[in-house]
Amino acid sequence: MRAIVVGAGIGGLAATLSLRRAGHEVTLVEQAPRFGEVGAGIQLAPNATRVLRRLDLLDAVAAQAARPSHVSFRTWSDGAEICRYVLGREAEDAFGAPYLLLHRADLHQALAAAVPPGWVRLNTVAVGIDQDDESARVTTASGERLRADLVVAADGIRSAARQWLFGADEAVFSKTAAYRALLPADQVADLDLPELGVWLGPDRHFVHYWVRRGELLNVVAVFTPEAEAEAEAATESWTARAEPGEQLREFDGWDSRVLDVLERAGQMFRYGIHTRVPLARWNIGRVALLGDSAHAMVPFQAQGAAQAIMDAAVLGDALAGATPAGVPDALDRYVRRRLAVATATQADSARAGGDFHLPDGPEARARNARMAAYAAEHRFLPQATAWGVDVLDEQWPC
Ligand SMILES: Cc1cc2nc3c(=O)[nH]c(=O)nc-3n(C[C@H](O)[C@H](O)[C@H](O)COP(=O)(O)OP(=O)(O)OC[C@H]3O[C@@H](n4cnc5c(N)ncnc54)[C@H](O)[C@@H]3O)c2cc1C
Repeated sequence: MRAIVVGAGIGGLAATLSLRRAGHEVTLVEQAPRFGEVGAGIQLAPNATRVLRRLDLLDAVAAQAARPSHVSFRTWSDGAEICRYVLGREAEDAFGAPYLLLHRADLHQALAAAVPPGWVRLNTVAVGIDQDDESARVTTASGERLRADLVVAADGIRSAARQWLFGADEAVFSKTAAYRALLPADQVADLDLPELGVWLGPDRHFVHYWVRRGELLNVVAVFTPEAEAEAEAATESWTARAEPGEQLREFDGWDSRVLDVLERAGQMFRYGIHTRVPLARWNIGRVALLGDSAHAMVPFQAQGAAQAIMDAAVLGDALAGATPAGVPDALDRYVRRRLAVATATQADSARAGGDFHLPDGPEARARNARMAAYAAEHRFLPQATAWGVDVLDEQWPC
């Protein structure tokens, strides 16, 4: 069969490769004039890296990654460790795939390099999708009508396809924003930072980890803007810059290592974090959503792209052996397998934000005690229970 995938982000590329693995041909439509990803980091948990292995991409991706031995949670004011969880070899053995820290461009490039060049239509904006019993069509800005047995809309958090399918519904500002930067390792070598650190404080948290084989430190400092600064902080862009020194004012009073990193980061990027309201369905007939267009979430459990990659794996399974007439049923199976899990992950990620951002006092002390008690009894993060749910497992046949 032939599919059209709209959007060549991590989700759309993974979907293309998964459909190819299932024996189908794909036209991948991307509005940007060239493939690319922003200069930022991404964590990939074993639920996603397991899918990369199946796509024969794990070795190429892992070669560019950093592999943390553990994650360390710390308090904002003095950097005291609340608890730590294992992410290294033991986690890889337990979950059958590694926890990787990556430069987004490295991940994107590895996925893109595996797509046959003739399948890609860059500089092509989808402006409409329609369908009948026999086929689905994508109309492009140049007036072309592309035709296929199915269309997968992986067009991201601002998905137009979602509106075409299910009506007006906008991305929702999470009331949080993130300062971002990538720093050369030698610029922070003296700070004795944990490999993957998450520092928790009132209305804020601070995350850092190595990417690109440890050559760069990725920094994400999440904050809740004051009401008067909310409109500006809500700007959702990977390239918008904060005012020089703004992050130091927002994180005033934090542990000196956090402030050292934020100072050395110079003028940081600022990204307004948005989500999408969960949908009751992601598909109509021969058209289905995938990735952020279906289930954009706050990144506080580092699962958005991972869930998109899992969508792609299940989509491929659902369509393996399907005939053109069977496409609507196959897309139903894909959505049945994925929607509840992705929706639960959206909610868990939002809850994690609430927990991370508790004000100092009894609630934060109780959280710290709870985390320490859990870590004393469990080697892996609480959300790791979900990493063990293998979307590729044959016990959930599509
Ligand atoms: C600060 C931050 C940190 C994050 N950290 C992590 C993390 O550590 N781990 C993790 O798993 N996830 C993380 N995420 C989430 C992750 O970035 C997203 O979930 C993921 O990138 C979504 O991929 P996607 O392919 O669905 O969408 P996108 O990456 O947005 O791709 C959509 C693509 O569609 C194209 N497009 C859009 N409209 C059209 C059109 N009309 N025609 C043609 N092309 C179109 C776009 O140009 C784009 O290339 C993070 C998110 C943020 C904001």
